[in-house]
Amino acid sequence: MKYKKIVIQPYQLGNFPYKDIISRKLEEIFQLPVIWLPDREMPYAAFNPERNQFLGSYFLKDLLSVKSEGDIVLGIVPYDLYEPDLNFIFGVASPVTQTAVISLYRLHNTFYGLPEDQNLFIERILKEAVHEIGHTLGLPHCPNPTCVMHFSNSIEDTDRKSYYFCPSCYQKVKMALGQF
Ligand SMILES: [Zn+2]
Ligand SMILES: [Zn+2]
Repeated sequence: MKYKKIVIQPYQLGNFPYKDIISRKLEEIFQLPVIWLPDREMPYAAFNPERNQFLGSYFLKDLLSVKSEGDIVLGIVPYDLYEPDLNFIFGVASPVTQTAVISLYRLHNTFYGLPEDQNLFIERILKEAVHEIGHTLGLPHCPNPTCVMHFSNSIEDTDRKSYYFCPSCYQKVKMALGQF
């Protein structure tokens, strides 16, 4: 697979002021250009009114409608996501379709009853974005708790890790991207 660019599809993010910083960091880490599509409506079909959450895996298919060959597509949603056997998910990705989605819902400090912290919010977004893009490239979870591919079960796990790959995962990324 030859990768050409990372495409970000925002869903009802409105005036989202962090596009440039996120693009710069993702371009630095993956050495691929990053483009943002215009904001799109949340797909009502993914909404579960009993749980008041959206089904994460729905977006993996939904995003195929904006994907061209060689794209890695990342959806970003402001609402809470779930999978049937899980209370919530921070994000989900498929190495088959090279699509991924992350939720910002639980990345705000205010979700945990704390004052909002913009820098922390941006760092958390980057960690979840890099993690899910790593999965689209076929990377599994990493046992190193500071590696971005470490599994996050809670925001504490997310805060403990960095938004960078450990050397072993980075090698896998370079291999998957054909960047040597
Ligand atoms: Zn994961
Ligand atoms: Zn790692």
